[in-house]
Amino acid sequence: MTANVKILANQKGGVGKTTTAESLGIGLAQKGKKILLIDGDAQGSLSASLGYTDRDDFDVTLASMMEKIIRGQPMDFQEGVLHHSEGVDLIPASIDLANTELFLVGLPMGRERVLSKLIEQTRPYYDFVIVDCQPSLGMMTINALAAADSVIIPVQADFLSTRGLQQLLKSIAQTREYLNPRLQVDGILFTMVNSRTVFNREIQEKINAAYGASIPVFESSIPYSVRAAESPAKGRSIYQHDPDGKVAAAYRGLTSEVLEQGRDQHRAVRPPA
Ligand code: ATP
Ligand code: MG
Repeated sequence: MTANVKILANQKGGVGKTTTAESLGIGLAQKGKKILLIDGDAQGSLSASLGYTDRDDFDVTLASMMEKIIRGQPMDFQEGVLHHSEGVDLIPASIDLANTELFLVGLPMGRERVLSKLIEQTRPYYDFVIVDCQPSLGMMTINALAAADSVIIPVQADFLSTRGLQQLLKSIAQTREYLNPRLQVDGILFTMVNSRTVFNREIQEKINAAYGASIPVFESSIPYSVRAAESPAKGRSIYQHDPDGKVAAAYRGLTSEVLEQGRDQHRAVRPPA
């Protein structure tokens, strides 16, 4: 087994990165996949929304693991992994990660690759490793881009025209050029969709016009729902909080699409080198 590594990235805040990391991760676990979630945000929102609200809930965090790697100390990720009742593993984060990021910035060498080193250790044990990024294009997000096989970009449809997406796509292109030539974009995922007027094809055309095509858009989009907005505070996933609701259904759809994409990529014939 070697995990496929996906990251949720968008430097715009509040677009549904954390909700999607959790709901996709648990959705894939429900399909029998082995999943590791990594909370890559110093705010610790993913950890909190899985119910680990108290820093005392865990001794080991992403920050302490990354610092061991930086210092060249032995590090076994399994010692810090939390096993969640909904079938996913988690490497949690806390505010310490903000210091780690500053520390990274000051490193003379290899500062973009520390998370990659950690993730390489985890790959044999999982089908998917999913990293929730913080809303910035800082060193933590660059580490995630360098470590990933692919990026999922949650976007609120209303904000599509902002310059943010362009910046993110530029960072992805630069990551490909300098750090990680394999990096793919799985797609843009529309979240918190309020109206029925969002037609995928229309949006796809808009994106093609604005960004020169080849940025796929997921067929599934995630509707807005008050029940979904409540669930992080309860420390429960949408599948537990509102199992028959439209957001749970939409995330099940996204889960199937991601599994489908994986099969297609597997099937794709690679051209000879
Ligand atoms: P940040 O950039 O701060 O990390 P984010 O991109 O991770 O934010 P989330 O935390 O997933 O975004 O979502 C932002 C807020 O919107 C949260 O309060 C979340 O509960 C809520 N939310 C997420 N998805 C939905 C939805 N489909 N319907 C309603 N509310 C939602
Ligand atoms: Mg978040």
